[in-house]
Amino acid sequence: MCRGLYYAFSKVLNNPTVLFRRKLAVVKAYLLTGGTYHCGRWSEPNKTIFSKLNHAVLKIYRSAVGNAFFKKDISELLCDKDVVYEYNLIAPVTLIRSSRLQLFSRMVGKNVHLLLDTLFHCSNVSGGWVSALKKDFQWLSMSGKIIVPTYEVDQLVQCVATNPRALSNQVRRFSLSPFANLDLLRNAPSLSPNSNVSLCCNVCGSVQPSLQQLRLHMLKKAW
Ligand SMILES: [Zn+2]
Repeated sequence: MCRGLYYAFSKVLNNPTVLFRRKLAVVKAYLLTGGTYHCGRWSEPNKTIFSKLNHAVLKIYRSAVGNAFFKKDISELLCDKDVVYEYNLIAPVTLIRSSRLQLFSRMVGKNVHLLLDTLFHCSNVSGGWVSALKKDFQWLSMSGKIIVPTYEVDQLVQCVATNPRALSNQVRRFSLSPFANLDLLRNAPSLSPNSNVSLCCNVCGSVQPSLQQLRLHMLKKAW
């Protein structure tokens, strides 16, 4: 974010008279345009890059909704997943996914042979942009609106070629639904490891997946 934009942004976000909904609208507009400009060209970012993006986006969200460390009582702080879910926001990974799918729809809609040939050529490569695109279609199929027999490049092109604009609209609609934004940390599984630990609260019997969460739970109960 450039310096001028940063000051303009903080003026809006730190202004107590600006309505909360308006702040969120400004933030979403920024992220969907300049903030994630050309992220559709990315393949799946690695853990380090994804963590940086996740942090940057969530920092803006937290400032807008007022759930940031410097303002809130620590017991009232929400985790990243809850911030996105509670305020119906677009998860950072969804920003990249929807941008990539929109780019694909433009590619097919404009019938750019050079790019489509490259896609066919890379269709069996295990990493990279094409592989990320296949995963995006699997994610989009959860909406129940797009049915692709197999996630192969030729099938995907065929599926989109009939109506590229419909794919674009479908992606836009689905990315705004809370269901599409549940797997916030898929790209960085180590940030949300599956826990096999279950620690029991000796006051109310509630089961927590980590010692930190158990202590937080007990602290909340004590108040
Ligand atoms: Zn308890």
